[in-house]
Amino acid sequence: MSAPVWYELLHVDKNCGARYGILHTPHGDFETPMFMPVGTQATVKTLIPSEIKEVSQGLILGNTYHLWLQPGDELIKEFGGIRGCGARYGILHTPHGDFETPMFMPVGTQATVKTLIPSEIKEVSQGLILGNTYHLWLQPGDELIKEFGGIRGFMNWDGALLTDSGGFQVFSLSKMRKITEEGVEFRHPKNGSKLFLSPEKSIEIQNNLGADIIMSLDECAPFDSSYEYMKESVDRTIRWARRGWEYHPNKDTQALFGIVQGGKFKEMRKYCLEELMKTPFPGFSIGGLSVGESKEEMYDMLEYLSHYMPKDKPRYLMGVGSPDDLVMGSIYGIDMFDCVLPTRNARHGTAFTSEGKIQVKKATLFNDHGPLDKECDCVVCKTYSRAYLNHLIKSEEILGMRLITYHNLYFLKTLMKNVREAIKNDRLLEFRNEFFKKFGYKL
Ligand SMILES: [Zn+2]
Repeated sequence: MSAPVWYELLHVDKNCGARYGILHTPHGDFETPMFMPVGTQATVKTLIPSEIKEVSQGLILGNTYHLWLQPGDELIKEFGGIRGCGARYGILHTPHGDFETPMFMPVGTQATVKTLIPSEIKEVSQGLILGNTYHLWLQPGDELIKEFGGIRGFMNWDGALLTDSGGFQVFSLSKMRKITEEGVEFRHPKNGSKLFLSPEKSIEIQNNLGADIIMSLDECAPFDSSYEYMKESVDRTIRWARRGWEYHPNKDTQALFGIVQGGKFKEMRKYCLEELMKTPFPGFSIGGLSVGESKEEMYDMLEYLSHYMPKDKPRYLMGVGSPDDLVMGSIYGIDMFDCVLPTRNARHGTAFTSEGKIQVKKATLFNDHGPLDKECDCVVCKTYSRAYLNHLIKSEEILGMRLITYHNLYFLKTLMKNVREAIKNDRLLEFRNEFFKKFGYKL
């Protein structure tokens, strides 16, 4: 085993003896000679980590004397050392179960996690899933669902549930929408009738749908909106969140989260969060990310926000769930994720495996007797061959979609379990490096 830190001499200037080399460390390799900024009190004075990254090579210095005296090395250890990557392990308590976080929540848009029955959803999730307010409001209607005891009763799901506000779909799916201070008016996509969604109406529908965790109505403005438009939109989102909170009658049984918007503008995101924190929301969501911006832009924003999000409340990153984003989001202190990706990918024949994504209908799998993922212990991988799955997907058989859906969700459940174990052992960054390398992601 090599030393954790070692130096590799690559060149010596023949005229003066100056050395060029690489210093290898567990958290990065650095060209030398190099300058290291001093972060005496575990802060490079006035700068946040994303800025320190920009102005250094990535190796900084802390002073043992100062940190030993205050706040104390024992406390710093609890945060995973001075570096403390920001990842948190915790428990989310709900009326229908307690859940270890960080966690991934499968999406059950139409009161169904497509192709699976509730007992299967239980096997491949932690027990908390998501329903979409917009779709269920339009059909079959929240009043009907209420008669069945909410979504949980309607679909026979005895686990916990989260619903979104419906806003995202109104903004992304409906043409002919008009936003006013009161709410958003739009046309029914099928019959063209006029519909109106206000902050109060969104809460009323979500009261009827009966989820444990519900969302404030927000406007998810495009990431690259102008500063002027984004400011107007964020201010409205803040006012809508307050109106929803005032209206919400079931504060004891349904936890209402506020949603942080602000597109690419960091100061505006911080402003939105700080305004929302004036209302006692039991949790906060981050919306308007993974909407077309680069992954670097998204991670940079998460890192920035991680310094301002309250420590004692859950943080939910909405609509994000590719394996790399789950690991990176966890590093930046996100507790909850949801995404249609694993289920949608599955229906198109794409499977996650420990060695990366594969197209199940790929010709080379035609006579492959092995399991989909040899490291997975799900029932699909224990029972079926790649050859059989390849045949089902090529034949567009529903069972193929079902089996890959099951495996993909199980894969993410296992990934999050490994992420939590790594956090508990203060080694999430090392886990990220190992996982990315094996899965084929660039570090
Ligand atoms: Zn599997």
